[in-house]
Amino acid sequence: MPEFAQVGDFCPNEACADYGKHQSEGQTNIVRFGKTKAGRQRYRCNTCGRTFTETKGTIFYRRHTPEAEIIETLAFLAEGSRISSLTRVKGHKEDTILNWLRDAAAHAGAIEETLMAEYQLERGQLDSLWAYVGNKGEKRAIRKPTSAASFGGPR
Ligand SMILES: [Zn+2]
Repeated sequence: MPEFAQVGDFCPNEACADYGKHQSEGQTNIVRFGKTKAGRQRYRCNTCGRTFTETKGTIFYRRHTPEAEIIETLAFLAEGSRISSLTRVKGHKEDTILNWLRDAAAHAGAIEETLMAEYQLERGQLDSLWAYVGNKGEKRAIRKPTSAASFGGPR
């Protein structure tokens, strides 16, 4: 299963100078830092000194709903389901679904990869998903990542 930007790839502390920077040869602020009692990998950011664990830092980490459920809901949307029917069928509030969409749009590359791999969605369906956020979201526009270079998945 393709994965989103994972914990350990970047520092999730918004106050950190290296917040959100993905680890690479020149960016190595994140180190493994033991495990929690529950056995989850813990990481430490050497820039700000914060530690964090696996559950924090995935794109939906503040959400109460399992990531798989969120992805499935987004897949239904991309396939043409209406938000109003999804709220009925799945029991999520319309605002909640829109929030997921906004989160997803901010990480469009990773989400697209997952949706195409797991739900066999087509390019056009994904585009309509993002268009949906643009049209139905709050007034502030969602900027879709424009660098296609970072996402070279099959079409
Ligand atoms: Zn940091």
